Amino acid sequence: MTDTNPTSGSASSPSLENLLHETRSFPPSEEFAAQANAKADLYEKASADRLGFWAEQARELVTWKTPFTETLDWSGAPVARWFADGTLNAAYNAVDRHVEAGNGDRVAIHFEGEPGDTRTVTYADLQQEVSRAANALTTLGVQTGDRVVIYLPMLVESVVAMLACARIGAAHSVVFGGFSADALRSRIADAEATLVITADGGFRRGAPSALKPAVDEALAPKDGAEATTVQKVLVVQRTKQDVEWVEGRDVWWHEALAAESDQHEPVAVEAEHPLFILYTSGTTGKPKGILHTTGGYLTQTAYTHKNVFDLKPETDVYWCTADVGWVTGHSYVVYGPLVNGATQVLYEGTPDSPHRGRWWELIEKYKVSILYTAPTAIRTCMKWGDDIPGGFDLSSLRVLGSVGEPINPEAWMWYRRVIGGDRTPIVDTWWQTETGAIMISPLPGVTAAKPGSAQVPLPGIVATVVDDEAKPVPDGGGGYLVLSEPWPSMLRGIWGDLERYKETYWSRFENLYFAGDGAKKDDDGDIWLLGRVDDVMNVSGHRLSTTEIESALVSNPIVAEAAVVGANDETTGQAVVAFVILRGEHANRAATPEGAAEVQKELRDHVGKEIGPIAKPKKILVVQELPKTRSGKIMRRLLRDVAEDRAVGDATTLADSSVMDLITAGLAAPS
Ligand code: ATP
Ligand code: MG
Repeated sequence: MTDTNPTSGSASSPSLENLLHETRSFPPSEEFAAQANAKADLYEKASADRLGFWAEQARELVTWKTPFTETLDWSGAPVARWFADGTLNAAYNAVDRHVEAGNGDRVAIHFEGEPGDTRTVTYADLQQEVSRAANALTTLGVQTGDRVVIYLPMLVESVVAMLACARIGAAHSVVFGGFSADALRSRIADAEATLVITADGGFRRGAPSALKPAVDEALAPKDGAEATTVQKVLVVQRTKQDVEWVEGRDVWWHEALAAESDQHEPVAVEAEHPLFILYTSGTTGKPKGILHTTGGYLTQTAYTHKNVFDLKPETDVYWCTADVGWVTGHSYVVYGPLVNGATQVLYEGTPDSPHRGRWWELIEKYKVSILYTAPTAIRTCMKWGDDIPGGFDLSSLRVLGSVGEPINPEAWMWYRRVIGGDRTPIVDTWWQTETGAIMISPLPGVTAAKPGSAQVPLPGIVATVVDDEAKPVPDGGGGYLVLSEPWPSMLRGIWGDLERYKETYWSRFENLYFAGDGAKKDDDGDIWLLGRVDDVMNVSGHRLSTTEIESALVSNPIVAEAAVVGANDETTGQAVVAFVILRGEHANRAATPEGAAEVQKELRDHVGKEIGPIAKPKKILVVQELPKTRSGKIMRRLLRDVAEDRAVGDATTLADSSVMDLITAGLAAPS
């Protein structure tokens, strides 16, 4: 990976070039800063005594059955033990203690179904329902230490099911409701789950969409597959559509819960007791079953949720749009907010059902004050136009968050201006399924936010950018993002595969956790995420980031979304190939060969101007859609297959499998 181009760099040979310059900056208003939970001194406190700081967070934010005396045991590295001699229960922390503190009447969840049905669930209601569900699981034979697979739409029952598992000390493994029977089968087998919680179906884009048939198929005997470990299937009734029923195996959720008491004593478990297994999104390949345990995970999710979103549980209405099938749904729909006693919105459906203003309508209706969503959603709303959110009162919003991919500076600016009324801080939060909770993010009352940068490790977190030799890059340099100290919510391994854990995260650099993401430091030392290391392109010896070129493309007013890949090229090693979606009113411009050529030229020149000639895409292809994972991330490896004229690789975690056919068919047509 040496840099062969004499014009491109310093003697220290940065691993990734730093090309795009963004100079805008938005400090918090004085009013916001004055009332913020986190002030600048949090950084000083944490660096003065890092472990003492985490111990204090764990004692303050979490209720322990037995207090811990030891903070971190790293002797079994890279498997950490945090607060290991303490005991606690996650569901007690998320629910019961708020009722005991006199807040039973506080709304925990404002549920909004896609068809418009609503349900208000207080903390006292949640305590009763979780208790009934915990009793039902016990009656059905689930024991402390067992695994339960949850395969549900976004319902109150999804939250209840997760907490009921936690209450009895069984680990849950939530499988996203959009995954196929095969994906479900392999996840059930990997975890050796004994029970599955599902629903008849859920409402999606105005119609009921069945779920139970996928469970039936996943549990049915199959050639070459071992017999299922599942004994019972608990079925939530949501759509009332017809379902096949296996006597002796299938049980209705509502009947099982009705038969149980609403009293249940939570099982105190050790801090390192497994809380859940969750598979990564599969953006780069085969998903990994990430294991999280109880005490450290709850501490860091609660800490980050309180400080990054500036949560005031008495007055805020919080809404994270992530599905519970993703880690964001685990940490910032279920555990973080509930442990903090927040009031939140839970929405079943898609942003465009029945109309494209649905999200903004919900924000107006519930007076949402904190919104946490993904760049893909923001770019989609940008594409639909400002008028749609413009028709709703969004003045209740006071903090906006972003997660899942690097957010392009122009999307960030749009989010702040159109959704945040040019007023709200934005927190761009970098983290992974593996990290369990937010790691790098501005603090909304402290940091002068820069569009497109996650900026600084949170107090208590140590992250940096290193070069090929594991040396920290200087300000202005680029390389690999690493975490150099253990953190409370870190993964404790890949389920059943310690070797793969070591190999994947700890073998690239000695004693450093390798996140797999490229990053750079700007002249102020702030961190910018530059996309997956697997996606980095090498053009004539220049190592270029996909994110920067995509951001340059999105900064052109005709472009709504862009994905960039490096394709093999005889002369330059790799060549930049861009796939772009044009904004609504420009969509037809590439319909004729002349129009397409004009768009190509305009965008190539634009990238040349924004970044430099080396980054100009060799080819720009106008498409209608981009391939995305079910969690909304662009899957560049499939586009690389197209750019290199190969058969398209494994697309099973793709949200819409027809997208790749559309793209290849569209490109075959002359343009
Ligand atoms: P797989 O590991 O199976 O390929 P995945 O990495 O997409 O899937 P997740 O754990 O859901 O699975 O995603 C974490 C990744 O998402 C990060 O490593 C990073 O690439 C990206 N990411 C998340 N938040 C941000 C952010 N704020 N800025 C930049 N990138 C982000
Ligand atoms: Mg990953």
